[in-house]
Amino acid sequence: MVNKEKIEKAVRLLLEGIGEDCNREGLKETPNRVARMYEEIFEGMDQDAGEHLSRTFTAENNEMVLEKDILFYSTCEHHLMPFYGKVHIAYIPDGKVVGISKLARTVEVFARRLQIQEKMTAQIADAIMESLKPKGVMVMVQAEHMCMTMRGVKKPGSSTVTMVARGEFEESERLQNTFLNLVK
Ligand code: ZN
Repeated sequence: MVNKEKIEKAVRLLLEGIGEDCNREGLKETPNRVARMYEEIFEGMDQDAGEHLSRTFTAENNEMVLEKDILFYSTCEHHLMPFYGKVHIAYIPDGKVVGISKLARTVEVFARRLQIQEKMTAQIADAIMESLKPKGVMVMVQAEHMCMTMRGVKKPGSSTVTMVARGEFEESERLQNTFLNLVK
């Protein structure tokens, strides 16, 4: 659980650190506001993706299921700045499928934590492998990192792409290419 009192204290120190006056009107409520916001954007820390992924249906067939353009917002653990973009998930069922909204929920569970993009990509894939036990899963994340674009290291709009393949996707170039063509 997020400790709001500690966050408020820390934000006050942070404001002092950058030379601000914590008592001026615009900043008075800021520590409290940030604490409440953190509670929401880090709520994934207390959540288990398995809960969402355990509600399954019997698959009519075992053809590839693809959910693309799942929007997410996360927070980079190196700079405490947002990174955000899209997640594409494909899996090959082994008799079981989940409701489409559960894939989006799974993304939220891992996005609402301090993250690095590579780790989030793998966590989503591994959670699906563990809970749904499909024949294979592939996850691609495309994101813009504010810690890079805001500081001018990279141009705004540039994105970082990470990909993870598990099970049958790992072994089959044909399946990987199908996935890549579909998310293009
Ligand atoms: Zn960063």
